[in-house]
Amino acid sequence: MFNRRYAAILVVLIVTVVMMLCSRNRKRYYSHEGVVWTTEYHITYEADRDLGDSIQMLLHALDMSVSPYNKASLITALNENQTCRTDAYLRRLIGASRVIHEQSGGAYDPTVMPLVNAWGFGYKSGTLPSRAQVDSILEFVGMDKLTLRGDSLVKSDPRVMLDFSSIAKGMACDEIARLLARNGASNWLVEIGGEVVAHGVNTHGKPWNVAVDLPSEQADTTVHESAMTITLDSLAVATSGSYRKWRDEGGNRLSHLIDPRTGDSRVGTLLSVTVIAPDCMTADAWATACMVMGDSATQAMMEPRRDLGVLTISADTVSGALVVWSNAAFADRIVTH
Ligand code: ADP
Ligand code: MG
Repeated sequence: MFNRRYAAILVVLIVTVVMMLCSRNRKRYYSHEGVVWTTEYHITYEADRDLGDSIQMLLHALDMSVSPYNKASLITALNENQTCRTDAYLRRLIGASRVIHEQSGGAYDPTVMPLVNAWGFGYKSGTLPSRAQVDSILEFVGMDKLTLRGDSLVKSDPRVMLDFSSIAKGMACDEIARLLARNGASNWLVEIGGEVVAHGVNTHGKPWNVAVDLPSEQADTTVHESAMTITLDSLAVATSGSYRKWRDEGGNRLSHLIDPRTGDSRVGTLLSVTVIAPDCMTADAWATACMVMGDSATQAMMEPRRDLGVLTISADTVSGALVVWSNAAFADRIVTH
């Protein structure tokens, strides 16, 4: 009698524990979205629990480190010479930037901040600087004016300032992907303001497909017209364009992208560049670098590269029609229906 009751209790206990373990390990897809750096983000991932709070904490930590628009951030303290100590995020950004700065012949340069401000696209209200003003600012723009000595940032001129706005979203996508992997997630799509990291499969068990936007004259970021669809697995994609963030100044179109070699801000024929790379920080930096380089230089440099997929969309100088170009590494990822 006693043995039977004991056995029954034991069975109930075992079943409960097994059920608890099974439900803990049962993965499902979660979605998390919000706004960061004045842009929307959307994240879908398969995990055994909701990781939304951790994602938000990570985004907050990144903002406190790398945002020059956040007065309490570490980068603001560095820009204002209140400290010279960097953190791991900033050291990673500086390291990645230096590689792309060199490979792009100086077109990519995170020390453009004073020029971005002077042209009225930063956190200070500039409008239309004179040639003399631009030239005087150029004296303290350039990655050669920065060195990392251990954790310390050494500036050759105290007026040197950093701006990682061009790769912060890409870096944040990579960091969120790392957080998901660390927490046992298996499949994910992380998107911040159009920059994307994809891994594994979607809710239908199919590879993640991502639409590439067609440049549009409408400044409304909610209007999207798709140029094509690309498929991504363990890859990232980022787009930079001159077609949304520009301003008309006396008949001249000014862009938020500045050529650090001349200090100029002008919209050329290149409307957008989309780059596929193994990580989103690289994709994001190259998209900006190519926009600054322009279509001919980008196409000549990227034609033979297999490690980066590159798509350029330009306006024909005569007809204004859209001209689409891509290298082979990009073409390999286009989904044909
Ligand atoms: P978006 O932020 O619109 O997605 P990008 O990723 O191309 O576009 O980043 C644009 C930002 O990069 C600018 O607002 C400016 O802060 C910064 N920037 C401008 N010119 C350069 C440059 N030559 N190299 C690095 N960063 C730049
Ligand atoms: Mg970019």
